[in-house]
Amino acid sequence: MNIETMIREVQTQLGIQVDGRAGPETWCAIHARIVKPATVPEDKASPTDPRSQQCIATLLPDVRPLALALIEKAALHGITIKVIGGTRSYAEQDALYAKGRSQPGPKVTNARGGYSNHNFGIAFDIGVFEGNRYLGDSPKYKAVGALGMDLGLEWGGNWKTLVDQPHYQLRPAWAAGMRESDMLAELRRRVANGLAVFA
Ligand SMILES: [Zn+2]
Repeated sequence: MNIETMIREVQTQLGIQVDGRAGPETWCAIHARIVKPATVPEDKASPTDPRSQQCIATLLPDVRPLALALIEKAALHGITIKVIGGTRSYAEQDALYAKGRSQPGPKVTNARGGYSNHNFGIAFDIGVFEGNRYLGDSPKYKAVGALGMDLGLEWGGNWKTLVDQPHYQLRPAWAAGMRESDMLAELRRRVANGLAVFA
């Protein structure tokens, strides 16, 4: 087996970007996997908490390793994040959309069922935590945003119209350069026809 194949297999196992080159990210992930569990106190040894695991399980398999890698990367930078939102059905999205409209409370989304990236398994939301305390507003969101973009994720903090710092999504290759509304239309079409989102 040649060295590049070996690195690719290691990268696949680590759930990080697979490019066959062992750069800083690969070494950080190897360090986190092999060295850190032995040296870090029990409560930080496994950065993936049950809530994150549950949310990540709702994502498409292509997106899961990236969500895990983001948690791991943030932890390496001393930032505790959890994945607190994953995939929602159209019905769940409609129920959210009703809040502040036909239902009481403030509006929480502008997207009906089928009009949110969260309806297709490609998007997740994170929360920054200090210990068990959730921080709704923290400069750390921006720091994590940079880490997410490094991983190839789109970060909601870059959006112009509705800045959404906790939001991340993996844009399918076919949607490169597409307007968000066009991408969502194609996602709806694919799901309605039983086609793969990422193929
Ligand atoms: Zn979101």
